[in-house]
Amino acid sequence: MQDYDIVIGLEVHSELKTNSKVFCSCKNQFGQEPNTNCCPVCVGLPGALPVLNKKAVELVIKAGLTMDCEINDIAVFERKNYFYPDLAKAYQISQLVKPICVGGHIDLENKTVRLNRIHLEEDAGKLVHSTAAIGTLIDYNRGGVPLMELVTEPDISSADEAVEFLTKLRQRLIYAGVAECKMEQGGMRCDVNISVKKRGSLELGERTEMKNLNSFKSVYRAINYEANRQIEVLKNGGKIVQETRKWDDNHNRSISMRKKETSSDYRYFPDPDMLAVEIPREDVEALRKTLPLMPEELKARYISEYGLSEYESEILTRENHLSDYFNKTISFYNNPKEVYNWILTEILSRIESSENISISPENLAKLLKLVENKEVTRTNAKEMLSRIMENGEEIEALIKEYGGGVDETALKALVENIVTSNPKAVEDYKTSDTPEKVFRWFTGQVMKETKGKANASKAEEFIRELLNK
Ligand code: ADP
Ligand code: MG
Ligand code: ZN
Repeated sequence: MQDYDIVIGLEVHSELKTNSKVFCSCKNQFGQEPNTNCCPVCVGLPGALPVLNKKAVELVIKAGLTMDCEINDIAVFERKNYFYPDLAKAYQISQLVKPICVGGHIDLENKTVRLNRIHLEEDAGKLVHSTAAIGTLIDYNRGGVPLMELVTEPDISSADEAVEFLTKLRQRLIYAGVAECKMEQGGMRCDVNISVKKRGSLELGERTEMKNLNSFKSVYRAINYEANRQIEVLKNGGKIVQETRKWDDNHNRSISMRKKETSSDYRYFPDPDMLAVEIPREDVEALRKTLPLMPEELKARYISEYGLSEYESEILTRENHLSDYFNKTISFYNNPKEVYNWILTEILSRIESSENISISPENLAKLLKLVENKEVTRTNAKEMLSRIMENGEEIEALIKEYGGGVDETALKALVENIVTSNPKAVEDYKTSDTPEKVFRWFTGQVMKETKGKANASKAEEFIRELLNK
């Protein structure tokens, strides 16, 4: 392996987060009854005409802006012709010569991966392989779902880098509201182009392509398998042929499928049903203004403005729902470090997804303020949080139970009682070198008696008053 360089270029398809499909008004919705979100346009009946969904174009522009792409003034749609049962009209409306975005880059830890382009196209239907008796069924609900295809330059050199790239890409698309990238639903799929060459050689080797990988794990395994396979072939004096290979994740191997098609096999030509799309610069600038901070930018802000560490900021910005939650909570309670600590130790351990955290940012903030003002102890606050998150209890009732349990008169009486019944300790307090230790013992007693429900700062005030008499 050390004698060879691995060269990888990715083509990544992501389904865009629109309400309707890209060329008709059918719903863009996953998980519906088969063939219920269809119309003459998206099943490709002859004569049906496509109407472009503006939102889909805007989302591709937004995606491009997050990766420093150039946005073309004019974008053109072509027909990519091929036959497959999931594509009823026998062509896909896609873009070849003038895509919406060109160039751009994503920066990894140790290198920059250049992008070639991002274009807009339509997804195909889905084949459902049933029993032998029934055969293969087709669900056209996915047909016509807007898809952005991002193509990288062959700048990636390992399975690790490929996964790092995909992770960053996915994060950005989600943060920007462009796509949800739900891998398990096929919302993000990746074609891996890979070749190997003698270490340091400038000439690229012949490549193979593995299509439609739908998890980062299979991308990782497919790259390692295919790189090793190619190296073995070359070492044994063989030749790599340009081909499309199928990745078989169950058996951890790739199998030759067909000689790779080139763009001329698809007989691309401008789609006569589609007008060229003009993209005014003002529109691009207006869209740029709607973009939220990207995870890297947020991370930098957490470090410089909030004093969080690199690691802490990394955890908070891995998912947009989590950083949103954090941002909201500190807007109510401006103590980033404390909020982070609670999220890390008390919240993350209780949730499966940061999409639905069962205590609102307002209520978490409220709880932390109670702790800061010593109206409830830290231990009790943790218990309250657990009861809110796990039993869905109301915070107000819990505050009464834990915080408002001892009124001031009762607390004062209790403190008096404890102080008068411990004359030895009072003496200690007055003569000891470490009076604060004794003082803390008294507070401890009060908290013990009240099961932590007393307002600690009030209790301290009363104790201090009596001891210093
Ligand atoms: P096609 O459209 O025929 O698939 P492209 O030239 O658009 O071909 O390239 C598709 C992908 O293959 C791109 O991501 C590109 O970076 C990558 N690629 C091109 N040549 C090589 C190579 N020799 N080795 C690895 N990847 C390559
Ligand atoms: Mg390709
Ligand atoms: Zn339709």
